[in-house]
Amino acid sequence: MNNFSFYNPVKIHFGEGSIENLRMELPQYGKNILIVYGGGSIKTNGVYDSIMSILNDLDMNVFELSGVEPNPRVETARKGIEICKQHNVDIVLAVGGGSVIDCSKLIAAGAKVEEDAWDIVTKKVLALEALPLATVLTLAATASEMNSGSVITNLETKEKYGWGSPAVFPKFSILDPSYTFTVPANQTVNGVVDTMSHILEQYFNNATNTPITDEMSEGILRTLIDVAPKALEDPFNYEHRETLMLAGTIGLNGFLSLGSRGDWATHNIEHAVSAYYDIAHASGLAIIFPNWMKHNLHVNPARFAKLAINVFNIDATGKTDEQVALEGIEALSAFWTSIGAPNRLADFEIDASHVEGMVEHCLVYGPFGNFNKLEAEDVRKILEMSL
Ligand code: NAP
Ligand code: FE
Repeated sequence: MNNFSFYNPVKIHFGEGSIENLRMELPQYGKNILIVYGGGSIKTNGVYDSIMSILNDLDMNVFELSGVEPNPRVETARKGIEICKQHNVDIVLAVGGGSVIDCSKLIAAGAKVEEDAWDIVTKKVLALEALPLATVLTLAATASEMNSGSVITNLETKEKYGWGSPAVFPKFSILDPSYTFTVPANQTVNGVVDTMSHILEQYFNNATNTPITDEMSEGILRTLIDVAPKALEDPFNYEHRETLMLAGTIGLNGFLSLGSRGDWATHNIEHAVSAYYDIAHASGLAIIFPNWMKHNLHVNPARFAKLAINVFNIDATGKTDEQVALEGIEALSAFWTSIGAPNRLADFEIDASHVEGMVEHCLVYGPFGNFNKLEAEDVRKILEMSL
């Protein structure tokens, strides 16, 4: 393992009815609250009403920002920042999936600076402070509810970047699996693919002797392969939803990177694709990840073979590590396809016309990836394999 320092201050309230914790949590932060949500799912499934009735009881002054897009836009965050500044908002409450939470992180940080929000995303301005942020999670996927990262899109300039700051760790997050009963099948699949991708990004690292995080990662992957089809079959099953929710949170709250540094190249490439085409984050990952794996197999075939054997049950008898590894990659692709994820960019009518722009987007901070450094030629190949 590498030496490490670990810090994650997010308090989690997990389970059915855990929304009631808002009553004891919120009053310590002040009276003025900004609720941030998306296109309206929280209004149709009752989550909005449950929260409003508690805020009413607490006699809070409620401001609202609705309409946060999947792949949240910087313009939307600017609107939220404006509300915070104008009304002296004391706390931001994000109610939704990763997009709403990521947008709320930028709002919380942007409210504390004079500069434009995009300067925070591009790291020209450091987010040293933020308004207190809390989340009510409605979609198991990103772990944004328990980390300090955020991903924001600027469609005008065709840019989508991740940024982060310890200042935007949520103070607390409410995780009620029953709030995810209404997540449609395609978004449930997206959540599973994103969670599995986070685990894989971290699994492909160059540290030695990481048995604890390896076992945790392989165990969560096996569990998701078992439970995801059951959750899709029976979306109102609480136990399946709670398994997906906990997996999503542990997938990227830092636990799986204790003592190692994950790769993250696939996420970077996906951000370039969705900056150009606005496809769902997980759709891009499902297409690109198997190709990133094939392209980088040579770096450490034994690592890929270990994944194939321990997660996909590939029989290694009489085979080379490369052969086992390739069967594992095929098994991963087959699993994602079996639950309904896409496997070609052509499924979204994406052709080669913007490959060069996407390559450039990926390399804006130079060669990238911690398991293997990718140059322009590597990205071009991976994108071409994904078409
Ligand atoms: P999302 O974009 O937040 O939500 C996708 C869709 O699901 C929305 O249309 C939303 O509808 C709907 N939805 C959410 N909860 C629902 C519910 N309970 N019932 C019915 N529909 C529901 O999806 P996400 O996968 O969580 O977030 C994706 C974003 O997170 C991407 O921008 C990605 O790049 C980013 N990301 C962030 C991190 C991180 O660490 N911060 C990690 C990975 C990815 P409504 O709008 O109507 O609510
Ligand atoms: Fe992700």
